[in-house]
Amino acid sequence: MDFVDQLKSQLDIVDVVGHYVRLKRNGASPRHVGLCPFHTEKTPSFGVHSVHQFYKCFGCDAKGDLIKFVMEIEGTTFWESLKLLSDRYGIPMPQRQRPDDPEARSRDALFEMHEIAARTFEENLNGPAGADARGYLERRGVSPEALREFRLGLADARGQQLVQRLQRFGPELMEDSGLIAKRQESSGFYDRFRNRLMFPIHNESGKVIAFGGRALGPDDQPKYLNSPETKIYRKTFVLYNLHRAKAQARKLDRMILVEGYMDAIGIYQAGIQNVVASCGTSLTNEQVRSIKRQIAQTEANAGHVVVNFDPDAGGARGTERSINLLLAEGLRINILTLPGDADPDEFIQRQGVDAYRRLADSAPTYFRWLADVARTKFDMQSAEGRVQAFQFLWPSLQRVHDKLERAALVNEVSSYLGIDPQLIREQFRRASPDESAIRRVAAISSSVPPNERLLLSCILQSEDARSAVLHYLGAGGVPGNLQLKTIFEAMLAMQNGGSPFTLTTLIDRLHERDQKIVGELTFQDASIDAESATAQAIHCLKALEMKSIDDRRSALRRRIRDVENEGKLEEALRLADELQKMENEQRPKRNGPC
Ligand SMILES: [Zn+2]
Repeated sequence: MDFVDQLKSQLDIVDVVGHYVRLKRNGASPRHVGLCPFHTEKTPSFGVHSVHQFYKCFGCDAKGDLIKFVMEIEGTTFWESLKLLSDRYGIPMPQRQRPDDPEARSRDALFEMHEIAARTFEENLNGPAGADARGYLERRGVSPEALREFRLGLADARGQQLVQRLQRFGPELMEDSGLIAKRQESSGFYDRFRNRLMFPIHNESGKVIAFGGRALGPDDQPKYLNSPETKIYRKTFVLYNLHRAKAQARKLDRMILVEGYMDAIGIYQAGIQNVVASCGTSLTNEQVRSIKRQIAQTEANAGHVVVNFDPDAGGARGTERSINLLLAEGLRINILTLPGDADPDEFIQRQGVDAYRRLADSAPTYFRWLADVARTKFDMQSAEGRVQAFQFLWPSLQRVHDKLERAALVNEVSSYLGIDPQLIREQFRRASPDESAIRRVAAISSSVPPNERLLLSCILQSEDARSAVLHYLGAGGVPGNLQLKTIFEAMLAMQNGGSPFTLTTLIDRLHERDQKIVGELTFQDASIDAESATAQAIHCLKALEMKSIDDRRSALRRRIRDVENEGKLEEALRLADELQKMENEQRPKRNGPC
């Protein structure tokens, strides 16, 4: 068994995908569903099949096995994905299987360089040079445990430490890493981060891929300096602390969103682990989706994001944009404002984590919070002021797509502001787009004749049905008039070639339309009773075969009529003989299993 087969046999795709996407099992069936990580969606159309070890999205048509999934979601090559899985699940990769692909080698080197940098920074912070920085962290209330867990560090002030330690990787990789910069004027290199408190940034697998550096001197600019984008660091995809936050976020259906590294650390060390930081920039679609992947199960249960930064101070930091993105993804938002505009870590130190938790639990919804802002802005005593207040809320209300959710909000907001709900509903009706105009993805498999669809469903869902049907087809060939002929032939060819049946190998042998049909039927909702699958399959097969014979007979009759009309009597007689023979046969000659 080669390493790829070994990985596939030891790992379960449901675990591998579940690392990134929150999956829900569909009753007792082997189908799990979740929100597709590859496109934006509100209702899950992403399926993972535990028997076939296969995933498929019905929205964007992403599909494949667990290795393909890792390649797509991590943006890694085939070999890197093998290596990642081998590291993550502790399945050692034989030396000879190691990649020889230059791209993979350079990414590997970048990971290694970041690990070296992280260790170097940690050593500095814990050494004699780190006294001031340690003092600063102590004043900010960072515990020694949190300091270790978050791997905080210190960049050396002279700017040559990493240059020396990373020398062996060569000038090109040193520059590519974003850790080292090239001198503009003369030749030579220097460390990008100097005399800064260093916050390692991890990917979802927990590997260090970048750093944020906070200035320690009062005059050092900028206050925060971040790694540039590199081959292993795509800014728009990464949230600070996500790899530590996700387990608890999944359990609680809730994620706390803060602005800075120190905020996240302060909350986390107090025992609230489901916290991520946007690091001061407005969120991107990808980041919102990676939050949503952790906390949302279905549209009705989209999960909550507790936003703990002041949306009012917005503008420059794009807070409003971030909130709009969260709303557009169907997430519920609560706004947590701390008294006196305190930072979360300061607040927890002064008031304790329980006070923080209480405030987080009772944080008003975004709309309630916005309505409060409106109440202070407009004269709520006059009808005119109330309408203005509503108009102020209107653009955000419009972003809630879910009808039920929106109706509930309208009721809440209108009673809170003292406005006639009817007035608000009128507004919605005028403004909402024609929902019927939304294009629905048509299921291709619905165009397949019912008997063929059922036959294929049976043999995809039941191994017994599959071997019975393939045995039967192997003896007599695939009836010629089947729409899905190529799919059955591909399965036969696999069996005859001695390769075990897997959905991935089947899909690889098919054209796009057939791939879609197989995908749809594998994940269809109507499951087939395992007991009767074989009987149903054989029944369909016989019906199809009868139909095939009928079709041939009709074609023959038409042909006879044609040659008679052309006056070719001899030929007509010969064909009539053939027809007679066929009718004598009545039923298919061979006897299949029943
Ligand atoms: Zn998709």
